[in-house]
Amino acid sequence: KIEIRALRKSFGSNEVLKNISLDVAKGGVVALIGPSGSGKSTLLRCVNLLVTPDGGSVRVGDTRFQFGEGAKLPDVKTLARFRATTGMVFQHFNLFPHMTTLQNVMEGPVTVRRMARADAEKLARAQLAKVGLAEKADQYPATLSGGQKQRVAIARALAMEPDVMLFDEATSALDPELVGEVLAVMQRLASEGMTMVIVTHEIAFAREVADRLIFMRDGVVVEEGPARQVIDNPQEAATRAFLSHFH
Ligand code: ATP
Ligand code: MG
Repeated sequence: KIEIRALRKSFGSNEVLKNISLDVAKGGVVALIGPSGSGKSTLLRCVNLLVTPDGGSVRVGDTRFQFGEGAKLPDVKTLARFRATTGMVFQHFNLFPHMTTLQNVMEGPVTVRRMARADAEKLARAQLAKVGLAEKADQYPATLSGGQKQRVAIARALAMEPDVMLFDEATSALDPELVGEVLAVMQRLASEGMTMVIVTHEIAFAREVADRLIFMRDGVVVEEGPARQVIDNPQEAATRAFLSHFH
């Protein structure tokens, strides 16, 4: 479960998030859409505290952080433990190039979760199998397609056994013919009950997989509701204008 309240973030004089609230139920899937620069990535990064909010609160599961005047910032150890519960997948895969696929997926469990190597390997192989890449365990990232790399990145996040998964345009950098295999993995995760926030330009996918949709512009939530309802029948002119680009 994710609960964001009155979140604010500025970069210098640029007010990027203006009083954002957001709820994702356990097992819920929320799609976040909006024009470039509307604050989607910043919001996602605030959820796992890669970006420190200026005000408001962030809660994932039982852990809650308050920001703003007088609030004490979490220490590094608390932050690291918290981040491990929120898996994040980026547009660019950020795999370690000098490590095999298996080593990439084992890295977090071994170094952050302090798992024994044998246990981490078992877990990593299971996660690779889950994204359809069991047979690629010993290959290096450079020998994989973009879609395969992104699936390794998903397996790597899953190996931390996170409570929630955050996807920031996970398919935007892929060749069109490779998008489907990554979306299929995301769809399966959703159907298995993973709590997810997905920033995406794949409107048809959002309509199919997300139960709620949020349209952001200029750091505010303009419209939000059941994904199908918002996409098929947007109430706000700005939402209609944005969605009209995707037909
Ligand atoms: P896109 O669809 O292009 O990915 P976005 O909705 O994800 O856009 P953000 O990346 O959240 O938008 O950026 C929102 C605003 O915050 C932009 O004006 C951006 O320039 C600014 N911004 C984001 N990160 C930083 C940073 N680390 N330092 C300064 N400004 C930033
Ligand atoms: Mg972005």
